[in-house]
Amino acid sequence: MQEKYQNRLKLAFPQDDFIWIGEAEPLPWHPWFGQFDTVAAVLQQERRPDMIVVSLPAAEQDHCLIALRQHGATALCQILVCNDSPLSPYLGNGHWDDTYAEKYQAYTLRRQQVKLDCEDISHKLLCYLWCHQEALLAPRLIPEQKYLYDYPLLTAWGMSADDSFSWLNELQKNNWITKASLSNRLRFCPSCHSGHLNYVDICPQCQSIDIEHQSSLHCFNCGHVGAQQSFRKFNSLSCPNCLQPLRHIGVDYDRPIENQHCNDCHSLFVEALVEAECLHCKLSSAINELHVRNVYRFKLAPHGRAFVRQGHTPSLFNVTPGEQMTRGQFYWLLDWQNKLAKRHGQTHCILSVQMLNVAEFLSAEGEARGFAQLDALQERLRSVIRVTDACSNDTQDGLLMLLPMTDMSQLKSIYNKLFNLKELQSAAKIELSVKAVTLPAEIGENVADWLTDQLIKAKPM
Ligand SMILES: [Zn+2]
Ligand SMILES: [Zn+2]
Ligand SMILES: [Zn+2]
Repeated sequence: MQEKYQNRLKLAFPQDDFIWIGEAEPLPWHPWFGQFDTVAAVLQQERRPDMIVVSLPAAEQDHCLIALRQHGATALCQILVCNDSPLSPYLGNGHWDDTYAEKYQAYTLRRQQVKLDCEDISHKLLCYLWCHQEALLAPRLIPEQKYLYDYPLLTAWGMSADDSFSWLNELQKNNWITKASLSNRLRFCPSCHSGHLNYVDICPQCQSIDIEHQSSLHCFNCGHVGAQQSFRKFNSLSCPNCLQPLRHIGVDYDRPIENQHCNDCHSLFVEALVEAECLHCKLSSAINELHVRNVYRFKLAPHGRAFVRQGHTPSLFNVTPGEQMTRGQFYWLLDWQNKLAKRHGQTHCILSVQMLNVAEFLSAEGEARGFAQLDALQERLRSVIRVTDACSNDTQDGLLMLLPMTDMSQLKSIYNKLFNLKELQSAAKIELSVKAVTLPAEIGENVADWLTDQLIKAKPM
């Protein structure tokens, strides 16, 4: 007990709930662990450990990892293993060694920033990818299953392999996750969707599978084409059809490029047809009829990160004090204000603020620091925008503001505030493009098109 207490004092960060499952061999640098023999014993206690180390025989360890990821309290937890098991690269977060403190601190920092609840499986995946630095959602080959690949993390969360591929597509369309790399390209039976296919080369004339390679000769004298064997006569060649002796290749005879022979219909051909026969339902399909699936590793996309950290629809500009409206509402308001401006001789301003380099910025600054700076930028924007100004998120990295009763000269102060901010971020390189357009104007039928054209024309401030 004394020894455990001393180990505890060696920690440089506040002691949290660390759990060790399996056989432990405590070393001097180890922190204090609650020790358990089985995963069931851990889950029974209904605690929320901050870090888990698993040291079990391979098969048992895989069961343990699945159980931990399935359970709500440990689904996102940092889990380290002493030795690899088949599932540990997919369900674990690396190896237990004396660099754990660094990994653990990075994990807790990220975990604290999560604002999204994890009830929904898509949210759970985003949170998982956020919490574990450089985490990828990786596919695993399972040759014995007809779908060939699954995502073990999603399987542990109860999603079938078949469903997971289309589901991941949806997440990509939301810009929450993005492809990290292509693992494989698979082909499936168009009828039963099995990946267990046998590729057979067949005769293009009669579809027989009884074909073989055959060296053939072509007699120039009579045009006869036949197996080389049938031209042989002792040590020389002569045509079995016209009996002409063949001495010089290119003069008397040549070798045709058709060197495949069908033993059923005896045709000669250059290339066999290839068909895929499904080993489950026996359907034979041409290669171009098979269903193709690319299998990717996925990582969190910048908008997924923002979503996890903000806990609502990702937009890097969420300027709550000004009225946040949809694009449609914004255009309607713009049109209406334009009519009023014409009638009463008023001037309004439309300000567009775009972030040009969000992804590059985050990768250059590191995510944790980068997001803190984006937060500071948003804070600053809140102070710039008056409550009477209407805002709309134009794109996910940008913001449109309607500033009533404002002309270009008054924009100067807003512009200065924005650019002071840029100076504050001395190390940071958030590139902002600020443009302004004034009303009244001849807008025409389509407000959105008009505004796009004007903003393209406008010079950045
Ligand atoms: Zn099939
Ligand atoms: Zn001949
Ligand atoms: Zn044939």
